[in-house]
Amino acid sequence: MKRVAIVGGGVAGLAAAYEMARVADGGGERMRVVLYEASSRLGGIVETVREGGFVIEGGPDGWMTEKPWARELAVQLGLGEELIYSNDEGRRTYVLLDGRLEAIPDGMRMMVPADLATLDQSALFSAEAKDAFRNEVTRAEELRAAAPAQDESVAEFVERHFGDEVLEKIGAPLLSGVFGGDVRKLSVRAVMAPFVAMEREHGSLIAGLQARAGVKKAPIFTTLRSGLGTLIDRMVAAIPQAWIHLGVEVVSIRRDGGEWVVGTNVGEERFDVVMMAAPVHVARALMEPLDARAAELMEMEASSAVVVGFAYDDAARVPVPAGFGFLVPAGSNNLLLACTFMDQKFGDRIPAGGRLLRAFFGGEAAKRVMRCGNDETAAVARMELARILGPLPEPRVTVVRRWPLSLPQYGVGHLERMAELEERVRRMDGLWLLGNGYRGVGLPDLIRDAREAVRTLAAHTVSSLH
Ligand SMILES: Cc1cc2nc3c(=O)[nH]c(=O)nc-3n(C[C@H](O)[C@H](O)[C@H](O)COP(=O)(O)OP(=O)(O)OC[C@H]3O[C@@H](n4cnc5c(N)ncnc54)[C@H](O)[C@@H]3O)c2cc1C
Repeated sequence: MKRVAIVGGGVAGLAAAYEMARVADGGGERMRVVLYEASSRLGGIVETVREGGFVIEGGPDGWMTEKPWARELAVQLGLGEELIYSNDEGRRTYVLLDGRLEAIPDGMRMMVPADLATLDQSALFSAEAKDAFRNEVTRAEELRAAAPAQDESVAEFVERHFGDEVLEKIGAPLLSGVFGGDVRKLSVRAVMAPFVAMEREHGSLIAGLQARAGVKKAPIFTTLRSGLGTLIDRMVAAIPQAWIHLGVEVVSIRRDGGEWVVGTNVGEERFDVVMMAAPVHVARALMEPLDARAAELMEMEASSAVVVGFAYDDAARVPVPAGFGFLVPAGSNNLLLACTFMDQKFGDRIPAGGRLLRAFFGGEAAKRVMRCGNDETAAVARMELARILGPLPEPRVTVVRRWPLSLPQYGVGHLERMAELEERVRRMDGLWLLGNGYRGVGLPDLIRDAREAVRTLAAHTVSSLH
């Protein structure tokens, strides 16, 4: 019998436990699994609040459709009928510019326009920025030749193609809402790999995007009608309940006589395998006494996020422009980083005629807002939104969620550091690192990674018995 500890009951830890339950059900090796979760609930950053007919996400609100692994899991869990997609016909994102919301031109993929003609009418970009876009195509050869052999920052990459205005107005706010923080430190290879490949092939990113035109595109985001919390609930229901230990914090991990000894606030237990799915700063601290170099490789900045959801009964009293929401570039004198018009992004998750806004604070602002109580945080969010959208009525439901150090920053050189880390961890017989610090932050990546780890472990266990 193999004894397995899973540390952390967020989506990564739960996906690992779910896969283990499947392996065990399928007649695979018998396992004794203990999932340690420090808090009193499962799901980690994934949390859905359902109130007054509104489905309000406190953390992620969906996943990128092009990555199939979250969908596959949802279907296996019997949630195929629950899958819903973003309203891409109405997909438009705005940027706050001098107090006004200006639309990002249609058809842009992140900061790359597929069609230069859409820029003509745009009030978002200056004449210089529009010229920089147009020139990017003619500079294709020069850009291909200039592509560095090494990793670089997102800022360097975007500036080389489009200049600093495009970086500041859309590049930085788009990326810092997903990957903690600072585009001058973020690794372009880790967070914008498809664009790096396009640069290598076409030089010009606009030309690269145009070469892919005509490829039929699925709706960009997928989610579940009743909220992502349902994905968590279904995984939990499929895991033997005896495996789950809530309110148990792992405080140490050490090696003793070929076994792993996991220390918690309630005692110690021995295992053959440890799957570490706690946030990377926690995992790093637990790694320190095992392998100082590995811990060093796991050192990364992480930014915090604060999400405030406001649900309104009467959309007419909360007018917003058509689209998914808006971004706030740095230096605009607002604390907000972004706001999503949830009822327009995904239908079906609000009562008829309702409106659901989700305000998002990141970086330094999140650090400041994090210190406030719920009422104060909601008041700040409401004031910030009202400055942009106009006076707002009393919401029917308000949800405030704080996620400290939840967005790890993949700095320049991240892929190389992770390759070295993986190599070291492989040599520590039976230790696995899962979660959002290593190979992707999105739900599909985390699910794929966790399930693959368990399958590899199961295959290895079977083959080592022969
Ligand atoms: C505001 C926000 C919005 C996001 N939006 C999206 C989105 O729309 N789409 C998308 O794909 N991704 C999104 N993400 C990213 C995604 O939600 C996260 O990367 C993912 O949920 C992280 O899952 P995880 O299991 O790695 O970690 P977590 O969810 O952080 O889970 C880790 C768990 O470990 C527990 N733990 C910590 N220390 C210990 C310990 N010592 N012992 C035992 N347990 C411990 C914690 O309590 C927690 O439950 C978003 C992230 C944030 C913050």
